Amino acid sequence: MADAYRALEMLDRAIKASEQWGENYEKDPETHGGLINSEAKLQSVLTKYFRELSDRSVQLINPYYYNLKLSQIQASEEFTVDVIIEDSALDGEDTTLMNIMYDPVAAAAYYGAAAGETLYSRSIGVSKSSELVQRAAKTTVAQMVGKRVNKDGLIVDNPRPEYSISNTTRKNIRSSISTSLSLGESLDAASKRLQDVIKKGGAKRAELIAQTEAVNAYQTGQFAFATETGAIGKGWQSIGATDICGTFAKLGLVPIGYKYQLPSGRTILIPTAHGRCRCSVVWIYPEDSRSKKVQSPDE
Ligand SMILES: [Zn+2]
Repeated sequence: MADAYRALEMLDRAIKASEQWGENYEKDPETHGGLINSEAKLQSVLTKYFRELSDRSVQLINPYYYNLKLSQIQASEEFTVDVIIEDSALDGEDTTLMNIMYDPVAAAAYYGAAAGETLYSRSIGVSKSSELVQRAAKTTVAQMVGKRVNKDGLIVDNPRPEYSISNTTRKNIRSSISTSLSLGESLDAASKRLQDVIKKGGAKRAELIAQTEAVNAYQTGQFAFATETGAIGKGWQSIGATDICGTFAKLGLVPIGYKYQLPSGRTILIPTAHGRCRCSVVWIYPEDSRSKKVQSPDE
């Protein structure tokens, strides 16, 4: 059951070609440009992070590899090795990640809220230091490392995170060491393999994470703006998407608190629906003539 759930979550997160930007992004070129810059900045800090992690990773492999007496293990017919990465080995990575990602994520959240002000002519004095922006940024970086923000505003562990950068790193390390063990590689070769996996894989991961999470932050900031300014409805905007995003768009206008259901069963209030999702949302206010069309699809 847990495995099936995990597989579906991976489907949600699967690498897809970038979608076209949803309609509302391009309606305000200034904030859209800001979002694209934030995305590039996020990609650059993450690429640097994985490069440094690759350099540090040799320290992770040493204590395990020496003690395994490879030749003896391999002499046995039934050769299976479970590589277990101690949680403590990656202690501190989550905090490091949240710190380096915070500024670009907060910038993206700001552009989301600021775009709302422009597109809906409702100024609430949003700035990069607004509480609304800070809260959206904190929520986004916490989710990225598998944590959540509690009602007191503290970042706490999430017992069932749908995603965590460090968990993926842990999985990559485990799989690299397993490969080295089954090939009977020397410590040097195993270290080299691990460094390459983290560095090369890191460049791709940095791109995917940045393209997805900058949009998450932007939408989280805009959702906070829409809620604060009294929007009552929303509509998912995807351009030509035939996947789950196309399905969400076909639902039309729904109440602002409507939860879209992903194939995994997880529900979301706003984009993104999968890796590299660039869908947008149109917000509906009570005086909008379309407000009569806001209806929950479940009714
Ligand atoms: Zn999408």
